[in-house]
Amino acid sequence: MDLGIQGKRALVCASSKGLGLGCAEALAEAGVDLVMNARGSDALEAEAARLQNDYGVKVNTVACDVTTAEGQEAVIDAAQGVDILVTNAGGPPPGLWSDWDRDDFIKALDANMLTPIAFMKALLPGMIDKGWGRVVNITSQSVRAPIPALGLSNAARTGLTGYVAGTSRQVAPFGVNINNLLPGIHATDRANSLDSGVASQQGISMDEARANRAATIPARRYGTRQEFGAACAFLCSQQAGFIVGQNILLDGGAGNMTM
Ligand code: NAP
Repeated sequence: MDLGIQGKRALVCASSKGLGLGCAEALAEAGVDLVMNARGSDALEAEAARLQNDYGVKVNTVACDVTTAEGQEAVIDAAQGVDILVTNAGGPPPGLWSDWDRDDFIKALDANMLTPIAFMKALLPGMIDKGWGRVVNITSQSVRAPIPALGLSNAARTGLTGYVAGTSRQVAPFGVNINNLLPGIHATDRANSLDSGVASQQGISMDEARANRAATIPARRYGTRQEFGAACAFLCSQQAGFIVGQNILLDGGAGNMTM
C-alpha cells in the first residue's frame, strides 16, 4: 500500500534499536526522511547509515538523552519543521510499590510523560501551520492493563494518555492526528532485560522465562519490531487521517478486554 507520505520528514526519538528503530525503518521504507536519536552513537550511526543506504532517504542523527532539557533542545533544533513525530524513550525499571520514592517518580514522569509532551509542544505548531501532521507516542500495554511490577511506568504512561486524549482533539481540526501505540511484549533489549529479571527472581533460565511468557500470549510468541513499525507507519499515513486520539494495542491478544 502506498502510504502517501513519501518526501515527508519525521523525528523518531530513541530509535537506534527496538521499537523506535522499527518505526524509523517502516517510515524510511515509505520514503520519509528521518531525524533519528539515541544516547549512544554507535548503533545510531550504524542504523542511520543502513536506512539511508537501503531506502534512499536522508537521515540526520542527534545522539543525546531525550529526557534532559539539553537533549530535548538539541533534538528539537534538528527536527524543526517535521511533519511526523514519534516519541519514545527507555522504560522505567520494575519493582515493588514500596521501593519507589519521589525522585523515582519524577524520573519516570520526566522520561515517559513530560518528554513526549515537550516534543509535542515544540513541534505541533509547525504541523498546525502546514495543516498536516502525525504524532505517534510509543506507550505500553500497561496503560490498558497495568502491570503490578511496573508501577512507575503505569503512573507515567497513563498521565501521557490523559494528555493525549485532550490534546489530540484540540489539534485534529488542523489536520494533525495524535495517537498512541501500546506495545505488548516485543522481542527487544527491553524484553530481554525484563525476562532476565524474572529468570533470576525465579531461578530459571532465560529461555524458560521467555517460553513461560510466550505461553501467556494467545499468538504464542513475542511481537517483532517490524510489525510494530508497520503499525506506526500506517498511523502516519494519509489513510489514517480519521484516526484521532486512539490507544492501539499490539499485544498478540494478551490483554483480554472489549475496549
Ligand atoms: P529497547 O530495545 O531497549 O530500545 C530502546 C531504544 O531507545 C534504544 O535505541 C536506546 O538507545 C534508546 N533510548 C533509551 N533511552 C533513551 C533516552 N533517554 N534518550 C534517547 N534514546 C534513548 O526498548 P524497546 O523495547 O524498543 O522499548 C521502547 C519503549 O517501549 C520503552 O519505553 C519500553 O518500556 C516500551 N515497551 C516495550 C515493550 C517491549 O516488549 N519491548 C513492551 C511495552 C512497552 P540508547 O540506549 O543508546 O540510548
